[in-house]
Amino acid sequence: MAVSANGTIQEVMLPDSENAPEPSRIERFEGALCPGFINAHCHLELSHMKGLVPEKTGLPGFIMQIVSRRNEKAEEKMEAIRLADEEMWRNGIQAVGDICNTADTLDTKKNSRIKYHSFVEVFSFDSSKADEVLEEGIRVASNYQQNGLMATIVPHAPYSVSEQLFNGIRYQQKQFPGPISIHNQETESENEMFVSGSGELVEIFKKFGEDFSNFHPQFKSALDYHLGQLPNDQPAVLVHNTMTKAEEFEAVKSLGNDVFWCTCAHANKYIENRIPNIPMWFEKEANVCVGTDSLASNHQLSILEELKLIQSNYPEILLQKLLRAATLNGAEALKMDKEKGSFRKGKLPGVLLLKNLNDGMLTDSSSVQRII
Ligand SMILES: [Zn+2]
Repeated sequence: MAVSANGTIQEVMLPDSENAPEPSRIERFEGALCPGFINAHCHLELSHMKGLVPEKTGLPGFIMQIVSRRNEKAEEKMEAIRLADEEMWRNGIQAVGDICNTADTLDTKKNSRIKYHSFVEVFSFDSSKADEVLEEGIRVASNYQQNGLMATIVPHAPYSVSEQLFNGIRYQQKQFPGPISIHNQETESENEMFVSGSGELVEIFKKFGEDFSNFHPQFKSALDYHLGQLPNDQPAVLVHNTMTKAEEFEAVKSLGNDVFWCTCAHANKYIENRIPNIPMWFEKEANVCVGTDSLASNHQLSILEELKLIQSNYPEILLQKLLRAATLNGAEALKMDKEKGSFRKGKLPGVLLLKNLNDGMLTDSSSVQRII
């Protein structure tokens, strides 16, 4: 591969190609070359919560912890954000779809070598608060946009966004066009809420003072509830999908929407102690992409560690498929595929070296080294 000084791919050629450079200009590496990883789901602004939240509490318990520990000192937060950004770069991550509720991560993103898409997340199940919540989202997204960073306004999860707020989010695509992201079917109580109007999640939100008086069971799954309310002309990144069934993957595929299914396996293990049936996702030919989620629910921000966990649970998934999910699919989900995600002439994807592969399989000792 010929790469210019600034990292632009100039040519991908076979070793015996006619216009190969002189041997003295060739650098050889032991291992596999891979484009920079794309982390399709992170929450940089929760980086200060590393190691603070107990594992395996289940999602409702996790949400309680996050809400009660969100407000740490500003200085500590900023430092944790900066260190997390550096950690991702070291781990070979080239671009990130990052969920944010504030502009806390703005300075780090402005100065980072990583390319970010900020998903400015809004939530309120109380329809009377939709305007107020949306206005705050617009304020934050404008702040990113004015600083030259890409941002869109996105719903948090089906269980935390009213139909009025979904309407507002769709309308805001005029001002902030681009990919959308939503947490999807992370826990069973999420489906329970939409099918029967009850369950652990509903109880937790009532404790937070959310008004559920206007909510009636929809007699359908969380996915059925939200999918029709997302803008249908932009990529949608559905995150977690732990409880999504095979027939739901088929139903979504038949719609022909640009839907990406993001796995955050380490976070699922951390929070719910269960990993989704990812081989089924591939069987259904879903567009799979990979995220780390935040340091509140992960011990590291590393796409390679996510792939290792997936392959150690499901050795039948080929590394080629996992790497595509971790690179080009993620770039397409974030609409960065013109520049990132593959070794194509003219792209600036970053170049990684994967070491210690065993017959095309990742092992505990597999590692990643950034070359460019
Ligand atoms: Zn998340």
